[in-house]
Amino acid sequence: MKHICVFCGSNLGAQPEYVEAARHLGQVLAARQITLIYGGARVGTMGEIADSVLAAGGQVIGVIPQALAEKVAHAGLTDLRIVPSMHERKALMADLADGFIALPGGLGTFEEFFEVLTWAQLGMHHKPCGLLNVRGYYQPLMDFLDHAVAQRFLKAEHRAMALIDDDPVRLLEQFRTYRPPSVSKWLD
Ligand code: AMP
Repeated sequence: MKHICVFCGSNLGAQPEYVEAARHLGQVLAARQITLIYGGARVGTMGEIADSVLAAGGQVIGVIPQALAEKVAHAGLTDLRIVPSMHERKALMADLADGFIALPGGLGTFEEFFEVLTWAQLGMHHKPCGLLNVRGYYQPLMDFLDHAVAQRFLKAEHRAMALIDDDPVRLLEQFRTYRPPSVSKWLD
C-alpha cells in the first residue's frame, strides 16, 4: 500500500487526543513510506497530519478545490492539485489512494468516508476503508450502522467493510489483510 487518503477535520476538535492522533498517524504513514493523500488544507487536523508527515520526511499530495485553495491551502506540500470542484476533489483523492482512513471530523469527513464506502458496496472499487476510533469518537456511528443492519437497510457483509481500530498500526494491518465482500448490495 503506497498511498492512503485520510479524511479529517477542518477543525481541531475539543480534545487534545484528536490532534495527537492526527500527528501520530502522519508519523506512522511516513515511517512506512506511504504517501498521504488529503484535502490540501492547512487548517484543523488536516493541517496537523500534513505537517506531521512532512516533518518526518514523508510525501503529501493535497487535492483542493479552487474556491477553498484561496482561503486555506497548505503552502508546503510535496504536491498540491487544485481542481474545479468538491466533486472532482473527491474523485481524484479516491483515484490516487489505495485505501481510506477517516480521523475524527465533522460533516465533510462523514460525507467523504461514506462516499468511498458506498462505492465499495457497489463494487466500484475494492480498497479498504477504516475509521480511526480516537477516544471512542466513532462508537455511536458503529452503533447506528448496526441499527441499519437490524432494520434491513444494510447487509452485515457491507457493514463489516467499515474497518475500525483505535490504533493506526493495527488499522493498517487490517487494511493489509482486507478481503472485499462479494455479495450484491440488494437485500430483497
Ligand atoms: P469537516 O469534517 O466537516 O471539518 O470537513 C473536513 C473534510 O471535508 C476534509 O477531509 C476536506 O476534504 C473537506 N472540507 C470540508 N470543509 C473544508 C474546509 N473548510 N477546508 C478544507 N477542506 C474542507
